[in-house]
Amino acid sequence: MVRKKMIAGNWKMNMSPKETVKLLGELKPMVSGSDVDVVFCVPAIDIVSAVETVAGTDIQIGAENMFYEEKGAYTGEISPNMLVEAGVSYIIIGHSERRQYFKETDEMINKKVRKAIEHDLTPIICCGETLEQREQGITLEFIKKQIIGAFMHVSPEQAMHCIIAYEPIWAIGTGRVASSAQAQEVCQGIRATIRNIYGNQVADQIRILYGGSVNAGNAKELFSEEDIDGGLVGGASLKPEFAQIVHYKDL
Ligand code: PEP
Repeated sequence: MVRKKMIAGNWKMNMSPKETVKLLGELKPMVSGSDVDVVFCVPAIDIVSAVETVAGTDIQIGAENMFYEEKGAYTGEISPNMLVEAGVSYIIIGHSERRQYFKETDEMINKKVRKAIEHDLTPIICCGETLEQREQGITLEFIKKQIIGAFMHVSPEQAMHCIIAYEPIWAIGTGRVASSAQAQEVCQGIRATIRNIYGNQVADQIRILYGGSVNAGNAKELFSEEDIDGGLVGGASLKPEFAQIVHYKDL
């Protein structure tokens, strides 16, 4: 099964609207001409500028969070409709920073996943273990629980189009990347979990990204692994280096 690779940037809480126009204006020509899907997930306030800046290219814009209700008294939250109208196609759900700092649970993540799907937003569902869990040898067991939780009441047809991002917490923003063998082992485990829930067709088609200190020096090796279908890139997505990651085959 040949799955199209995806390289998605996660800007986190970086870049103002003006900086967005400048950075995407610079990166736009640099990321063109590859055979991967290129997505920039940007802060909510930057979405409109980002969508305008990449108009007419194949680059897609994603959001970093949304709420699971349609509308109403949820001060500070953003609804799926608002994102869709602004031109967003992807949505990061359950990033470890949101689980850690904003106490997002597997149940909330599942509600967001289902709401995103209902609005034709493609969820990029994040999972990943802490260093402590890795050292205890419970990585696969823990991630299996996160995946089962995220996909509750999601049909096979819906699941097939979701994206999963495996991001070991100890590798995010630390410069400490998982070895390609470690990343492959977990991505294979995630695909096996999806196979158990949904069967072969969904498991063979769903895309699983690796995230955690991906850079131009390690991208090619990571993305050559059988079960790694691209990357979710934090720090390096704010730099011209992101274009090198998109063109990882040439590295
Ligand atoms: C992320 O936060 O999704 C991430 C992978 O960050 P970094 O690449 O900076 O480790």
